[in-house]
Amino acid sequence: MTRRCPNCEKPEAAEFRPFCSRRCREVDLNRWFTGSYAVPAVELDDPEMEALDAALEDAPHDDDQQ
Ligand SMILES: [Zn+2]
Repeated sequence: MTRRCPNCEKPEAAEFRPFCSRRCREVDLNRWFTGSYAVPAVELDDPEMEALDAALEDAPHDDDQQ
């Protein structure tokens, strides 16, 4: 079973798993560091985020209470 490089979708290299090369691994790291990492295959609107949103809305706003 060959996995694909998340960056360019070439077959991964064992040495740079899960990437195909050091270049792709570094590109991926740079994406993380710059905050622009996007994973189209993974939706991030998961229940945890919705629960967090709900918790924030339900929480009392101390600043508003006088
Ligand atoms: Zn690659």
